[in-house]
Amino acid sequence: MNYLANDKRYEKMTYRRCGESGIRLPALSLGLWHNFGSVDLFENGRNILHHAFDNGITHFDLANNYGPVPGSAEENFGRILATDFKPYRDEMIISSKAGYLMWPGPYGEWGSRKYLLASLDQSLKRMGLDYVDIFYSHRPDPDTPLEETMGALAHAVKQGKALYAGISNYPADMTKKAETILRDMGVPLLIHQPRYNMLDRWVEDDGLLDVLGKRGVGSIAFSPLAQGLLTNKYLKEIPANSRMANPHGFLQKDALTPEVQSKLNKLNSLAEARGQSLAQMSIAWLLKDTRVTSVLIGASSVNQLSNNLDALNNTAFTDEELNDIEKILK
Ligand code: NDP
Repeated sequence: MNYLANDKRYEKMTYRRCGESGIRLPALSLGLWHNFGSVDLFENGRNILHHAFDNGITHFDLANNYGPVPGSAEENFGRILATDFKPYRDEMIISSKAGYLMWPGPYGEWGSRKYLLASLDQSLKRMGLDYVDIFYSHRPDPDTPLEETMGALAHAVKQGKALYAGISNYPADMTKKAETILRDMGVPLLIHQPRYNMLDRWVEDDGLLDVLGKRGVGSIAFSPLAQGLLTNKYLKEIPANSRMANPHGFLQKDALTPEVQSKLNKLNSLAEARGQSLAQMSIAWLLKDTRVTSVLIGASSVNQLSNNLDALNNTAFTDEELNDIEKILK
């Protein structure tokens, strides 16, 4: 199949500046954590990627361990890059990460220079790339000096194997330190990737968003739909074709307590009153904060992606709607 990108792909998407950098990211970005591994249907993943790029999604987020099996999402993405997306490489922001377990022994996870730089080389090989646009430390390492981990990110940038440095899952206090260390090394921290959605607001409570806003660092919210909870999927039961029912899925059944389910139903009614799906309202709710550069969704089908893209048709909230949401979430 010869893929030709839609020539209207830049007409509808909005692009938001990532902190104080020169990069603008699409309001919606696509993550390849689930649905793109060797256990998944390759053609489905390929169709989702085509639909994303055809609709202005220029940012694709990966990590060394995405699959399953670990590494296979990067391999599959590499296959699609080599064929369909080859002419469009310079229109894309491709990210990868290292931090979680990737290979056995003491150098296969966490935040050492040894692990990060070896892992980046492996990721580049799997994707067939000379460089990634963003390379992340995937999680803070309590036992490695922050200078070492940030030094590895800065080295990757100076080598040209990554264009920008990012961190993920770092709390506010460590983020401040990491940002300072990187700045002193001449490599500004581009972006932070935290989990953020209506059901998990630690980035507000911890002060992370304030730190990012003050320091001019962008952010990209992962699991914005709480892995699918914040959609109309789990309002009554656990459907068979859902992440919660999938043996490879990370969403556990105990996440769907009666209390959560009751909140989801109330939020769903509110979304309907706005003329939106719950997924669309959940995305719009994140985009109301300008410190959130991009919302990093996952999708298991083209239909889901298409539904989520339509969130951009209505991102405004009245004060009353926002208050109602707060009351439900309390
Ligand atoms: P979401 O919260 O967006 O969940 C995506 C899942 O929700 C889909 O796979 C699908 O699951 C379901 N879904 C999506 N849209 C709809 C819809 N319109 N209607 C019904 N169901 C829908 O994000 P993810 O948890 O997938 O995370 C997104 C990305 O964030 C990842 O791919 C990864 O790049 C990044 N990430 C980063 C982490 C980190 O530590 N830095 C950790 C986790 C994620 P299904 O149909 O299978 O039920």
